[in-house]
Amino acid sequence: MYRDTRAEVNLGAIRENTAVIRRLMPEGTRLMAVVKGDGYGHGSVESARAAVQGGADQLAVAYLEEALQLRSKGIELPILILTPIHPSEVMLAVRHQLMVTVTHAEWFRQIGSHRDQRCKEKLKVHVKADTGLGRIGLRTREEWDELVPWLQWDFVEVEGFYTHFATSAREDTAFLKKQHGKFLEMKEWCRASGVEVHQYHCAGSNAALRFPELAMDMVRIGAALFGFYPEALVPDIQLRPALSLYSKLIQVKRLRQGECIGYDNSYVASGDEWIGTVPIGYGDGWSQSMQGSEILVEGRRAEVVGKICMDQLMIRLDRKYDTGTEVVLIGSQGEDRITVRELALHAGTVPQEISTLLSGRVERNYAD
Ligand SMILES: *Cc1c(COP(=O)(O)O)cnc(C)c1O
Repeated sequence: MYRDTRAEVNLGAIRENTAVIRRLMPEGTRLMAVVKGDGYGHGSVESARAAVQGGADQLAVAYLEEALQLRSKGIELPILILTPIHPSEVMLAVRHQLMVTVTHAEWFRQIGSHRDQRCKEKLKVHVKADTGLGRIGLRTREEWDELVPWLQWDFVEVEGFYTHFATSAREDTAFLKKQHGKFLEMKEWCRASGVEVHQYHCAGSNAALRFPELAMDMVRIGAALFGFYPEALVPDIQLRPALSLYSKLIQVKRLRQGECIGYDNSYVASGDEWIGTVPIGYGDGWSQSMQGSEILVEGRRAEVVGKICMDQLMIRLDRKYDTGTEVVLIGSQGEDRITVRELALHAGTVPQEISTLLSGRVERNYAD
């Protein structure tokens, strides 16, 4: 590509993070690497391969398309699709040996004639329980009882039963414990119904790192693969960030007091100032909420001033720099480092939203 703005993904970091998490989990726990959202913006195929090298046993994505993309690149590990697929696409899942998430009997009823009777392969499912996130999943005993006959259908193999925590990043663990208790209660429903479930799982990155004792048969690790984790809550662990983001100054100018920068005159110089322009904007996924965040220029911090445009943003420099000077939006330069977590705090979001939003316009280079 011809642009000055480019991301660098360190596959060694993903591989090592996976291995570190593996070692922290109790003996025998499987690790499912979650690479939805194009591997949280790091590239799904590359991230999946790195995680597998680091010891991941299985993979997960959000949608059928994402799973098919991994299969088309020759990835043969078990893959779970976390969002229910259309019942009409069930044979696509069977033929590509994909595991699907099911929540209600109604979904099975709609399979009807979409099943190809000539195909002898089974449909592998993970049943999703909603224990408090309120997103997808069965909630009541009645819903479970209605599901049971479908789970005993000879076309179906129950690979897993799982739930997802709502508050694993919060210091207060009361709600997480309540969800876990509910999940254990639901696990008893499975036992009592005689449905054979191969693996029970509930923990994503935060829960797994903070409470390895919740790992059960498998942990589903997404954010932590890429080095995103609540550092203050798990002080004994060191995971490496996988993503860096670089650009260059494409213009540097001197502003006089009272002169303006950006749409809507959103910044006014309070004195004589040097202003640099960096070719990245919300069209790259660098949202307007990044206004006021900082960028490294020769190891020193420069504030993003004025509203962020679609393709460019402006920063206030401490002196004149040459055009073409390299700047760092994510990563280290000199003695300083800008982390995705710092940017997320500034923007009022989570690190994975920032990396996932980086658009296809930003080239990903891979390093090891
Ligand atoms: C995205 C997702 C995960 C991974 O969560 P992280 O916090 O990124 O590790 C796990 N399970 C489910 C159901 C998910 O949707």
